[in-house]
Amino acid sequence: MSEKLYMVPNQPTPNIPVRFDPALCNGCNRCVETCSRDVLMPHPEKKQPPVVLYPDECWFCGTCVEECGRPGAIRMVHPLNQSVVVHWKRKETGEYFRLGMKNPPPPNTRPPAR
Ligand code: SF4
Ligand code: SF4
Repeated sequence: MSEKLYMVPNQPTPNIPVRFDPALCNGCNRCVETCSRDVLMPHPEKKQPPVVLYPDECWFCGTCVEECGRPGAIRMVHPLNQSVVVHWKRKETGEYFRLGMKNPPPPNTRPPAR
């Protein structure tokens, strides 16, 4: 084939759903193959971490992280509004707050689902 084909990352978005640790990732592309949304693409150079080509297509399903056989090579970066462990502190009083609820959370008084 005489024509070249280019993959162009989506530049306008600041979203980075997954991050790679280049020291741990061996570029096996298992995560690329398992992603049903085709968010990731193999790096043009061998043994390099994949490229997050279409970050806005990520469902945050975590399959890529689950499938990776090298712990720490890839990790999810959930957006702030999806992170349930977000805390912030009131400087004046030292009080801690959690996103969307009091800290500690109020007791769950609902009966169990049947
Ligand atoms: S993150 Fe894991 S599965 Fe993906 S290329 Fe690197 S080593 Fe392979
Ligand atoms: S979290 Fe799911 S959708 Fe997002 S890159 Fe990983 S496998 Fe693909």
